[in-house]
Amino acid sequence: MVDIKSLTKEELTSLLLEKGEKRFRADQLYSWMHVRLARNADEMGNIPGSIKEFIKNECNYTSLEIEDMQVSAVDGTKKFLFSLGDGNVIEAVWMKYREWNSVCISSQVGCRMGCRFCASTLEGCVRDLTASEMLDEVYAVQRATGERVSNIVVMGSGEPLDNYVNLIRFLRLISDENGLNIGERHITVSTCGLVPKIRDLAKEKLQITLALSLHAPDDEKRQKIMPIAKKYSLKEVMSAVRYYFEVTGRRVTFEYALSEGVNDSNEDAEKLSSLLKGLKGHVNLIPINPVKERDFKRSSENAIAAFKSKLEKNGINVTIRREMGRDIDGACGQLRRKHLEERFHA
Ligand code: SAH
Repeated sequence: MVDIKSLTKEELTSLLLEKGEKRFRADQLYSWMHVRLARNADEMGNIPGSIKEFIKNECNYTSLEIEDMQVSAVDGTKKFLFSLGDGNVIEAVWMKYREWNSVCISSQVGCRMGCRFCASTLEGCVRDLTASEMLDEVYAVQRATGERVSNIVVMGSGEPLDNYVNLIRFLRLISDENGLNIGERHITVSTCGLVPKIRDLAKEKLQITLALSLHAPDDEKRQKIMPIAKKYSLKEVMSAVRYYFEVTGRRVTFEYALSEGVNDSNEDAEKLSSLLKGLKGHVNLIPINPVKERDFKRSSENAIAAFKSKLEKNGINVTIRREMGRDIDGACGQLRRKHLEERFHA
């Protein structure tokens, strides 16, 4: 079975030429899939029967079903629970802010990175998502909201750099001018810090933003909350991040989820400042979202403000992440978990 939505325009063209179809049919089909966002072959008005039959019989034409959608009464954020062709479920979130809107997508079903504060990883990684399935998340959200998606953050469940080949294919397709044409500068990929993959990503020369999940200012603390820190030291991670900046010219974002008594002290802020001194980047402070299976507590408003001003005093660029959709299951992976619990414990 051909995963037809994961093919580039060139690959699709050679495939159709091989089947004896005309070149312009590839243009039409590509546009039905990636611009008009057709959910199946029957929706494709001007495509001949021979190609529709080919799609139905020889291709896997992926498409997501909306299993659940929660809408925030506070800010209109929409959280989607989708089911994939094999019955697995994944989450995506749509956030609107002024003239922008942004979709946060998942890159895997679950995750195997094991970060202690994260709900996505509690049951490990079930499987990688294909490029087509990642596209489908964006397409399904755009169809459901009726608004053009302007930004994408690959910050949902999963470790995108642990699904590297599919991720790169997804990035090339979503930013393709013949497709949805979302500018690379409007796309952010977040990683817990897979050092060799950060270096590979730099070499792809994409103009996307890299976000690094830091969450602690030294190896000892980081190892306690992020198992990946046992594999790669902060020295190695920071050197890969510097390389990323040198090669792409893109400033890196550092994510830091603040948790009371874990990583929010004055000393932590000082250490973080020294770690990032002189680096072209910016820190995004995230008040941690408590996950019920774990006992991480959100830092107080005072502690967050103090942490921020300490960084500022030390000349570090810092913002506090605007919290969207606080009234709906906030933290990554929580909607999916709730769904799985209901399914298995009903
Ligand atoms: N695996 C990637 C991307 C997915 S997680 C990564 O680690 O970056 C997206 C971001 O949400 C990461 O910074 C992650 O550490 C953070 N995150 C996960 N659980 C969280 C929680 N309960 N509260 C706040 N941030 C959380």
